[in-house]
Amino acid sequence: MRIILLGAPGAGKGTISSLLVDKFGIVQLSSGDLLRTEVKRGSETGKKAEEFMNNGALVPDNIILDSMRIRLNDDDCAKGFILDGFPRTVVQADSLKQMFADMALVLNAVINLEVPEEILLRRLTSRRTCSNTDCQAIYNIHTKPPKTANKCDLCGNALIQRDDETEDVIKNRLIVYKEKTQPLIKYYSAYSQFFSVPCIDAKECMEAIQKKL
Ligand code: AMP
Repeated sequence: MRIILLGAPGAGKGTISSLLVDKFGIVQLSSGDLLRTEVKRGSETGKKAEEFMNNGALVPDNIILDSMRIRLNDDDCAKGFILDGFPRTVVQADSLKQMFADMALVLNAVINLEVPEEILLRRLTSRRTCSNTDCQAIYNIHTKPPKTANKCDLCGNALIQRDDETEDVIKNRLIVYKEKTQPLIKYYSAYSQFFSVPCIDAKECMEAIQKKL
């Protein structure tokens, strides 16, 4: 199973991806996690990406394309994967199409998560992430608080508000989403396995996805 998950920042791509991973035993490929790991490692890619990420801008296509091309060739991707946060531009979607052709892979579904903007804003400003890069568990101070304040339930490390989740940066991310990523809905809408589902409640969203898949 190979799935592309589309949606604005805060739409729930991470949450739905992990549920799909559990359901289908496939790998979650989050371009955001991939880049955050590079930043943390201080690699050349990380150094190039960091400033764009902290401003809520997209990292240049060539940087993310190189990283994703390498990642897609890893052995664990052979059993299938879900792309979370990639592609984010038409250039990336065109390159991904070429990567699938080169690797003789079939795309099974493109799922677009729909969420009203006021809910996106509320979700993103109340999100907290585990500071441990090997964990990166996500919490929400309103809807999914940790058992102990500011501590990750899974590994006990401190929870942080990501640099790109302050209100100004979030507003910029939503503007960038509308300009650069939203056109992908039209791009993929001609594809027979494309569908949109509301994603207000994760359980209901998963049920809707499973019905369509
Ligand atoms: P995310 O965790 O998916 O919201 O990604 C966090 C940040 O990483 C984004 O705001 C971008 O700066 C960068 N990023 C993630 N995926 C991509 C992508 N496919 N293309 C360009 N930049 C990306």
